[in-house]
Amino acid sequence: MYQDHVSKSGGPAPARPKAAPVPLARGREFLSIPGPTNVPDVVLQAMHRPAVDIYADELLATTGHCLETLKAVFRTEGSTYIYIANGHGAWEAALTNTLSRGDHVLVLESGRFARGWGDQGEFLGLTIEVLPGDWRKAVDPAAVEARLKADTLHTIKAILVVQIDTASGVVNDIPAIRAAIDAAGHPALFMVDGIASVGCMEYEMDRWAIDVSVTCSQKGLMMTPGLSFVAASPKAKAAHRTAGLRTAYWDWSARDLPENYRKFCGTAPEHMLFGLEASLGLLFEEGLERVWARHLGLASAVQAAVAVWAEGGALEFNVLAPAERSPAVTTILTPGFDPQRLRDFTRHNAGVVLGSGIGDLTGRAFRIAHMGYANAPMVLGTLGATEVALKTLGIPIGDGGVQAALTALQRHFGTPA
Ligand SMILES: *Cc1c(COP(=O)(O)O)cnc(C)c1O
Repeated sequence: MYQDHVSKSGGPAPARPKAAPVPLARGREFLSIPGPTNVPDVVLQAMHRPAVDIYADELLATTGHCLETLKAVFRTEGSTYIYIANGHGAWEAALTNTLSRGDHVLVLESGRFARGWGDQGEFLGLTIEVLPGDWRKAVDPAAVEARLKADTLHTIKAILVVQIDTASGVVNDIPAIRAAIDAAGHPALFMVDGIASVGCMEYEMDRWAIDVSVTCSQKGLMMTPGLSFVAASPKAKAAHRTAGLRTAYWDWSARDLPENYRKFCGTAPEHMLFGLEASLGLLFEEGLERVWARHLGLASAVQAAVAVWAEGGALEFNVLAPAERSPAVTTILTPGFDPQRLRDFTRHNAGVVLGSGIGDLTGRAFRIAHMGYANAPMVLGTLGATEVALKTLGIPIGDGGVQAALTALQRHFGTPA
């Protein structure tokens, strides 16, 4: 319910009866959606320049630097590739470079995104099997182990999973899933979508024996949408040699050739590379481990607030177990109200853009991102605006969500790194 701003006890009469309250939205818009995320000014500035010769030294150096730095981002000695594409392009690159029509692929469900990747595989002619999961839980490594043990002939060629499912807000335990694959003694390629997690939480491609990693520019990597990245292990490169789905545009072999032109299958996305170089610079200037710790600190504030709001009964965490709630995005179910009312309110009145529920949660949830270029006041601003909106709309919530977020931040600052 929107409240009239005129006091009942005889304040000044409104110019027009029932005029809408004045929005407090002017100022920098707070984009609190899980991608695209906030792009730092230095990244935008790095892109604001004339085009350069694609054959000249500067661009060659930038390309090489980005490809090398991406290895450090994925924590791999494997090969890295940059695609002029969004995350869906990277998915297709991963599949077409390593698999052949009819290959059997196991998709580990934990929300929307692994399923989406599998749907793409089906389109390509792969045989997709979904290991059913629950949108409110992480993938169960024991179920993975049991399924792989049953595949005694090793017909499964690849396993697809996301580290953070941006729709459900769940974080999967990638090293535990790796251990399950090893316990089953299964040789399938292990492919991980780190689109909402790389640059937000620990990701260890080589240590976790991941064969293909995918991520993209507009989430943890703080760049504009339009670039995506794939890293391949030696085992993935070996599978590539006989893969039947290879196409010219995505092909790793062509992109491994020395000419810079080949690395993009055509003209390089120059400005985006300059922006990427700047955003990766920010990541390593802060230090990857500290970036991960920052995300945990911000997530603790958001999740403390949501836990208190949930006491009112109108909303709840989508992910049931606290340990399975991701450090990059929190998905909140709204059994007591239409989440679009909340999103409209925060956007219109406070300049805060909350994420909507997607996939199975369309119309039943909203999401708060704490991903990428985000700091404490940005998260507190989003939480404050959300709490005001929930209260103003008359939605029953527990009192003191923002206070709980402040307490969580105090706890964060009270804990040495
Ligand atoms: C955003 C996202 C995608 C899709 O990326 P696009 O750039 O929109 O194609 C895939 N997987 C995850 C986990 C994501 O968060």
